[in-house]
Amino acid sequence: MSRPLRVAVVGAGPAGMYAAGHLLEGPAGTYLRGRTMRLSTGPVEVDMFDRLATPWGLVRHGVAPDHPDKKQVQRVFEEIGARPGFRFFGKVTVGVDISVAELGQWYDAVIFAVGATGDDVRLGIPGEELPGSHSAREFVSWYSGHPDHRFLDVDLSQPRAVIVGNGNVALDIARVLLTPVEVLAHTDIADHALETLRDSKVREVVVLGRRGYRHAAFHAPELSELGELAGVDVVVEYGSDTVDYSDSERRSTLLRGYAERPEGTADRKLVLRFLGTPVAVQGDERVSGLRVANNRWNGGGIEPTGVEETIDAGLVLRAIGYRGTPVPGLPFDEHTGVIPNIEGRVTDSDTPIPGMYVTGWIKRGPRGIIGTNKKCARDTVRALRADHENGLLRGDTTLSAAAAARVVRERCPEVVDWRGWNRIDRHEVAAGAEWQRPRVKLTDPDAQLAIAAGR
Ligand code: NAP
Repeated sequence: MSRPLRVAVVGAGPAGMYAAGHLLEGPAGTYLRGRTMRLSTGPVEVDMFDRLATPWGLVRHGVAPDHPDKKQVQRVFEEIGARPGFRFFGKVTVGVDISVAELGQWYDAVIFAVGATGDDVRLGIPGEELPGSHSAREFVSWYSGHPDHRFLDVDLSQPRAVIVGNGNVALDIARVLLTPVEVLAHTDIADHALETLRDSKVREVVVLGRRGYRHAAFHAPELSELGELAGVDVVVEYGSDTVDYSDSERRSTLLRGYAERPEGTADRKLVLRFLGTPVAVQGDERVSGLRVANNRWNGGGIEPTGVEETIDAGLVLRAIGYRGTPVPGLPFDEHTGVIPNIEGRVTDSDTPIPGMYVTGWIKRGPRGIIGTNKKCARDTVRALRADHENGLLRGDTTLSAAAAARVVRERCPEVVDWRGWNRIDRHEVAAGAEWQRPRVKLTDPDAQLAIAAGR
C-alpha cells in the first residue's frame, strides 16, 4: 500500500494522544526494551475524534488543579498534535454522529481510547441518591470545569464531608476541599468551583477506607503531600487495626508520622479513617450523615465488629472507582466495564474484529497513572502495525483525508479542529495570565465554540 496508513483515534485523552504519538513517531522513534526503535515503517495519518471541543481528557478534567506538574504532559501532547499527519475533530461523538461501522469502513484501523469515566461504581446502599451525595466522577468533573458537570449542586454549608474510598482520587478531592481558596485561586480550577469553595464551611474531611491501613489504595507521594497542606491537621484513626510499628513500608511510616504528631490546633482537619464500611447515607431532604459499620482485620480479610456509628456530614462523596460505558456498535464486558480485547485487539467472543483496537482505561480498566498509558498505547500500536504488515487490516473502502474531513463536516458542522482548539487554549491562557493562573477554563460549550470559530 503506497498511500498512508489512515487511523482514527477515538478519544483525545492521554491514552489517545500517546497512541497518536506512537503512530506518528517523531524522528527519535519509540523507546522499547532499553533501546529506541521505529514502530512505523511507512507514512501514517491520524484523525482524532473527541466528543468535547477540548482535547486531553483526564489531564484537563481529572488531574487535580493543585498538581500543575502532572499537567505538564500537555506539552508532549501539543507537540504530537503539531506533527504532520495529525488532525483533530472535536465535538464529534462516535456512536452518535458517526457510527463505529462507518469509522471501520472509512479508516484502515480505529483505536478506541474512550476512557472509563462514563459511569460510576455504586455503593448500593440506601440514601446514595440523596442530594449532597455525589460520585467522585461528578465532583472532580465539576471542579475541573467539565461542561457536562458545571451545574452540579455542590453544598459546602456543613462543617464535615466524608469521602468513601481511599485511593488517589479521594486524596485529590480532600485536598481541593481543604486547600485555602487563596492557593486554589492560582490554579486552573473552574471559576464556579472557586466561587463555591470561597464560601465553604467545610472544616473537616474524613477519608474512609473499608480495610486497614496496609490496604489503602493511595500512593506514598500523595499521602506525603497531605502533611504539607497549609492550615490542616492530619489525623489517623486506625480503628481496631493492629498497627505494626516495625512495618517500614513508606506509607506506614508516613501514617505513623501523622498518628504520632501531637494534637494540632489548625482550623481544618483531614481524618484518614480505616476499617469502616458505609451501610447507609442518612438524611431526609439532603445528606446529614453516613452510617458506618466498623470492621476488624482478621488476618486474611475484614469482618464486621457488630458496632455501627454515624458520621455527621453534609456531603458524601464516593471515590470508589470509575467504570467504562459501552460504545454502541462494539462488544462490552459488563462485568469488568472494559471493551474485550487481546493485547489491544478488540475481540468478539475471543475473535479479533479486524481493524478495531483499544488503549487506556477502556482496554485495561480504570487503573494507573497518566504515564501508564504510554506503554499501554505503544503495545496497542505495535499490534496494529503487526496486523498491517500481515495484511490483516481491511483497507478496501478507506477514505482519503480530504473525503473524511468533508463527510465529518457535513455531519457535524460545529466540528472543532486543532486550530480551533488552539484558539480556545490561547484564550484561556491569556485570561489566566491576568490573575497569575495557568488558565481560566471555558466551561460553557457555546463559549468554547464561539472562541474556536474565532468569534
Ligand atoms: P482506586 O485506586 O481503585 O481506589 C478505590 C478505593 O475505593 C479503594 O480504597 C477501594 O477499597 C474503595 N472501594 C471500592 N469499592 C468500595 C465499596 N463498595 N465500599 C467502600 N470502599 C470501596 O480508584 P481511584 O482512587 O478512583 O483511582 C483510579 C486510578 O487513578 C488509580 O490507579 C489511581 O492511582 C489513579 N490516580 C492517580 C493519581 C495520581 O497519580 N496522583 C490521581 C488520581 C488517580 P478496597 O481497596 O478495599 O477495594
